[in-house]
Amino acid sequence: MQARDVTVLERRPGSIARPDKVAADLLGPAGLGPGAHFDGWDITAWAHEGDHARIEMRHAAGLVERTILVRPHDAAFSAFLRTERWNVSYRGDGFDGDLARALQAIGDRLERVALDLGFDAADLQRRYYERPTKDEVLEVSPGRKLYVRVTEHCDEACLFCNATEGVSNVMPARSGVADVLRGMPVGSLAQIIFSGGEPTLVKGLPELVGLAYDRGARDIILQTNGVALAAPGALEAYLPYRDRLGIGFSLHAMEPGLSAAMIDHADIDRFPAKLRAIDKAIALGFRVKVTCVVMRPNLAQVPAFAQWCWDRWGLGLHRLQFSYAMPRGNAWLNQHLIARFSECTVAFAAAFELGRRTGLRIETSQSACIPPCVMPDYVDHYDLYGDYSGGKVTDPERVKPPDVCGGCKWDRICTGVWQRYLDVFGAGELHAITDRPDPGTVIDDYHEAEVLALDSCG
Ligand code: SF4
Repeated sequence: MQARDVTVLERRPGSIARPDKVAADLLGPAGLGPGAHFDGWDITAWAHEGDHARIEMRHAAGLVERTILVRPHDAAFSAFLRTERWNVSYRGDGFDGDLARALQAIGDRLERVALDLGFDAADLQRRYYERPTKDEVLEVSPGRKLYVRVTEHCDEACLFCNATEGVSNVMPARSGVADVLRGMPVGSLAQIIFSGGEPTLVKGLPELVGLAYDRGARDIILQTNGVALAAPGALEAYLPYRDRLGIGFSLHAMEPGLSAAMIDHADIDRFPAKLRAIDKAIALGFRVKVTCVVMRPNLAQVPAFAQWCWDRWGLGLHRLQFSYAMPRGNAWLNQHLIARFSECTVAFAAAFELGRRTGLRIETSQSACIPPCVMPDYVDHYDLYGDYSGGKVTDPERVKPPDVCGGCKWDRICTGVWQRYLDVFGAGELHAITDRPDPGTVIDDYHEAEVLALDSCG
């Protein structure tokens, strides 16, 4: 099973992989950039490939095409030629004298440029090729969404919280999130999502949102339990960013007792505070989404909850999302509260039907969802943002069992099923979709692993 590649943003100045810098600092000055000619060879293209720069070239006379790989000198990598600073190798068959001379010429040229810059092999490795460690990268999620977790602390303890089992992109504000935001290539991202923990517990969050806004973030999302935003002036602090800021409130019940049970918090006054915050956010013109995570305690109320949201907020609500509780973190500790997919379908369908009647967008997330084959008549209520074709899954904990999913025409939109779910409930609720076409939803997505360097680096 192939988990999707993730894109990462590197956080540490001076680390890899910076293909643009390799091209500008090294290949170009060495006369090895695209369009360059040397010794009868034309450079047609180059690309970053894993730990190497890959140069494509064609012999002007014989139309022979060659692929050359270069990286800083490292005995751990095989190479045809090692200069003091570089490994130079080639890919493919047909080695001959022309190729040998070309490899030597490339090595000599790169050696001269590195020497002029005063870099030894270790410098080259550190500046251009060193892989960041896990703590030094930010993962960009499918759909080009970047989660910025400004704190791990939370003032609730939701029965289903999956952040308790480890999440990526924890970047406490005090550790320089502002610097990271300043260097972030925001134009390449579809969304920057401020999350946590509970992000509104961080003083100065409005300034961080403002920084993302000023840097040109196209869409900013604040995920919150909403309590802190009920305080006087709290929402007003975000008004300057309203045209590109959406607020996602988590709300899992329509009455205080059940709400308190879902968030495992004794203070039932949190519930009216959340409602006040949502009321006010809508009144102020923010784009508001309510997310309700569903487990056994609140499953039966899903249709009534949807109706209640409609009655209270109508189309003032941008969208209402029912998420299936992922079997990890607190939800996995509370396994007895995890509902089977098939237990949920009637309640979810009733809510979706309300959306069809009223025009309120009522949906489930592509990732935290009942697999689409379990509710095939409601695929238009899935918030699709990632392409999982080719049997990919969104993380290593999910699978698409070949004996069930083989030939499924909805492979592209399906993020896979949690192995833990299958271990407990089996795969009997799943069936490959063979009689319906792919829904054809256009997904603005990326397809390859890549590293996007922060602008501030180097
Ligand atoms: S059959 Fe498998 S791939 Fe198809 S929607 Fe269901 S879980 Fe996903």
